[in-house]
Amino acid sequence: MSLAEADCLFCKIVAGDVPSLAVYETGTMYAFRDINPQAETHVLVVPRQHYEDAAVLAAEAPDLLADVLLAGADVARQEGIEESGYRFVFNTGPDAGRTVFHAHLHVLGGEQLGLFGRPHRTG
Ligand code: 5GP
Ligand code: ZN
Repeated sequence: MSLAEADCLFCKIVAGDVPSLAVYETGTMYAFRDINPQAETHVLVVPRQHYEDAAVLAAEAPDLLADVLLAGADVARQEGIEESGYRFVFNTGPDAGRTVFHAHLHVLGGEQLGLFGRPHRTG
């Protein structure tokens, strides 16, 4: 195990060393509820194997990235938001507010989602 993995929150969650609320599991994928949900339904889908971000995952294991998206669609179906709609998000870097450096897909839905992009401006 690399240093990055030993210190990785989502590797610990996949291993069961940090508790999480599982919603979906396969041999290669794990999905669990976000601890600080940004929508009525907010699930994180992670490959069990550690990749730093979506671009690294795409470059090194494109089939696994496709599996992350398919798992996200399965999660949406299972959560009953397939028809009402949902949003897939990958954050990268500080401007996107990225905090965990293990590739993960956010699946958001269950209510009308807000606009995204620029922050709300006041005045
Ligand atoms: P990022 O901002 O890196 O794209 O997303 C990280 C996500 O992980 C955030 O939405 C945050 O709420 C979630 N998160 C951080 N720590 C934990 C945790 O210990 N458990 C769970 N379930 N989610 C977490
Ligand atoms: Zn990791």
